[in-house]
Amino acid sequence: MIDRIKTLEITSRQLDPGSIQKEEWDAQVFKYAHTFLNNIEEEKAYHQPDSTNSGMPEEFDVQEEASGLPELLETITTHIDNTGINPASAGHMGYIPGGGLYPSALGDYIAAVSNRYAGVFFAAPGAVKLENRLLKWMSDLIGFPASAAGNLTSGGSIANLIGLVTAREAKGLKARDFERAVIYLSEQAHHSLQKAIRIAGLNEATLRYIPLDDKLRLIPERLQAQIEQDQQNGLIPFFINSSLGTTNTGAIDPIDDIAEIAIKFKLWHHIDAAYGGFFKLVPSLSEKFKGVEKADSITLDPHKSLFLPFGTGAILVKDKKFLLAVHHYLADYMQDTHASNQELSPADISPELTKHFRGMRLWLPLKLFGLKPFRAALEEKLLLANYFHQEIQKIPNFEAGPEPQLSVATFRYVPENSDPNTWNAELLEALRKDGRIFLSSTSINGVFWIRVAILIYRTHLKDIQLLLKLIQNETGKLESRNKQVYKGNKFQ
Ligand SMILES: *Cc1c(COP(=O)(O)O)cnc(C)c1O
Repeated sequence: MIDRIKTLEITSRQLDPGSIQKEEWDAQVFKYAHTFLNNIEEEKAYHQPDSTNSGMPEEFDVQEEASGLPELLETITTHIDNTGINPASAGHMGYIPGGGLYPSALGDYIAAVSNRYAGVFFAAPGAVKLENRLLKWMSDLIGFPASAAGNLTSGGSIANLIGLVTAREAKGLKARDFERAVIYLSEQAHHSLQKAIRIAGLNEATLRYIPLDDKLRLIPERLQAQIEQDQQNGLIPFFINSSLGTTNTGAIDPIDDIAEIAIKFKLWHHIDAAYGGFFKLVPSLSEKFKGVEKADSITLDPHKSLFLPFGTGAILVKDKKFLLAVHHYLADYMQDTHASNQELSPADISPELTKHFRGMRLWLPLKLFGLKPFRAALEEKLLLANYFHQEIQKIPNFEAGPEPQLSVATFRYVPENSDPNTWNAELLEALRKDGRIFLSSTSINGVFWIRVAILIYRTHLKDIQLLLKLIQNETGKLESRNKQVYKGNKFQ
C-alpha cells in the first residue's frame, strides 16, 4: 500500500505546481487579459454567429494528458471571446449590460487562491464579517433598520426567489392555501419572478397583473381595488412585487404608494431593484426611491448597477427572523459551528452552504475606487440615456418611447410606406451585422421598439454619438434599398 501511495503522490503532486510554474502561468494569463482589455475599443460588441463557430469545438474536450496554457488561451480567444456579445465592451447596450470592473477580477483571484469558506462564520469569520458589512452598507443605502439582514447571491433571480420564499413562510402559507394565494405584479415584472413562483411551489396561486399607466408603471388605485375584491372573495392576497427599474424600459413603479397599500392590507412588499437599485447612489434620484425603506424585501444586483462581473446579486430582508425561519438548519456534522453565532452566516439565510467568497469581488473595487466614481458613472449613464432620447427624435421619421426614468431609452423608425415592425427589425439586424454596438429589442403592446440600455461603465458620450451616426447610416442604406426594390416593382 505504501508503494502505491508513493506512486500516486508523484502524479497527484502535479496539482500543486511550484512557484516558477505558477509565475509563468500568471504572466501568460495577465498578458492575455491585458491584450483583451487594451484592444477593447477596437473589438466588436457583438460577433454574429457564422458557420465557423457552429458545433462543439474539440478543443473543449477534457483529456487524460495535460495541455499547455498558451494554446488554451488561444482557444479562449477564438471560441469564447470572439463569439456572441462582448459584455466588457462600451458598445454593449442590449438587455441590461454589466461591464465587469477590473479589481473584481483581482478580488476573485484572491478569494480563489485562499479559498475562504465564506458560507459559515466559524470557518471564515473575517470573510463573513466582510460580506455582512457590505450587506449592511446596502441596507443603510436603502434605509432598512438594524433588524435587516441580507445575502450576496449569484444574481437577481436567486435574490427574487429568496424574497418570495421568505414571504411565503412569513405569511404562514401552507400547501393547502396555495390555491387561494394571490400575488400582485406588473406585466413588466422580470420573468425571474414567474420562475421563482414555480420553483417555490406556488404555481397554483393566482397572479394578478395590475394595469399600468402610459409610462408602464403599476397603478396603485387598481392594485388596492383588486386586493379588496380578492379579500372579499375569500382569497389570500399575500405578496406584491414592484419594480424599481423594469428591465424592459427602466420604469419605476410608485414605490411609496404601493408600500402604503402593502402595510394597510398586511401583504409582503418585495421590490425588484435588480437593475435600478444602486441608482440610489445618485442624490438627484432620491425622489424615485421614496418609500423603499417601507418594503419587506428588496433585490439588488451589483453585477448590473455596480458594474461587477456577472455572478453577484443581493437580497435584503427587513426582518432577519423571517430569513432565518426559512433557511436556518442544524445538522449534526455541523455542530462545531453552532457555538459561534456572533454574526449571521450566509448558510443560515440562503439555500447555499458552500459558496464562493463573493464579498471580495465587491469590496475590492468599492475600496480601491471609493464611492465617488460610482455615483458619477451612474449619473453619467442616466444623462447619456436622456441625451440619446433627445437626439434620436431630431432625426427625421424617428420616434422615442417615454423619457427614460433610468438609463434605458426606446426608439423606432416610422417608415412612410412599409411595415414599421419589420423595418425596425431590419435596422436592428443591420446594426448587429456592423457589430460595433449591440442593441436589443422589445415588444410593447404589439409594437417593435429598439432598446438602448446604457450601463457599462466604459460607455461614454462618444459611444452614444457613434450609435446615433450608425443609426443614421444604416437607415439611409435601408431607405435607398427599399426605394430600389419599389422601383423594380417588387415592393412587398
Ligand atoms: C436582470 C434582472 C433580474 C434577474 O437578475 P439576474 O442577475 O439576471 O439573475 C431580475 N429583475 C430585474 C428587474 C432585472 O433587470
